[in-house]
Amino acid sequence: MAQQPEIDLSQIKMLVLDVDGVMTNGTVIVHPDGGESKVFNLHDGHGIKMWHRAGLTTALISGRESVATTVRAEQLSIERVMQGCKKKLPAFESLLKETALSAGQVAYVGDDLLDLPLVKRACLGVAVANAVDELKEHADYITAAPGGGGAVREVIEYILKNTGRWEDLCQRYMV
Ligand SMILES: [Mg+2]
Repeated sequence: MAQQPEIDLSQIKMLVLDVDGVMTNGTVIVHPDGGESKVFNLHDGHGIKMWHRAGLTTALISGRESVATTVRAEQLSIERVMQGCKKKLPAFESLLKETALSAGQVAYVGDDLLDLPLVKRACLGVAVANAVDELKEHADYITAAPGGGGAVREVIEYILKNTGRWEDLCQRYMV
């Protein structure tokens, strides 16, 4: 269910994503050797590539550490990946410093309590459909799609369509 925030979406330059429960459905398959598998959504992946093509950037801030996350980030050319962040606000602050962006130029997508400070801080704070209630209460936008089920793609399309850039990005597929 989309809300209508009074937010200038054209200010947003960077999409910052939580991983588990946002880019995935929040489940992890743990292997006997300690490795793990996660399922990533390909519509999200293509959306991130289109987002980059629009000249915008993406970063991941995850509370956990996982090789699967590192590999997926590489596949999607996501340059900034912060993992093992038990508290996300300090990671977010250092990300802003590093990129010379303000919180007013960032959209953040989360699903759990750990994400609450960032959802409150970002210009566009997003909770996925299956996020915890506390996060939804403070979100500017709540996706119709659940984490791992196209929520990231939905946010990307929401921003790009409402700033008049989506149609141009689709032109290359219309030939
Ligand atoms: Mg999460």
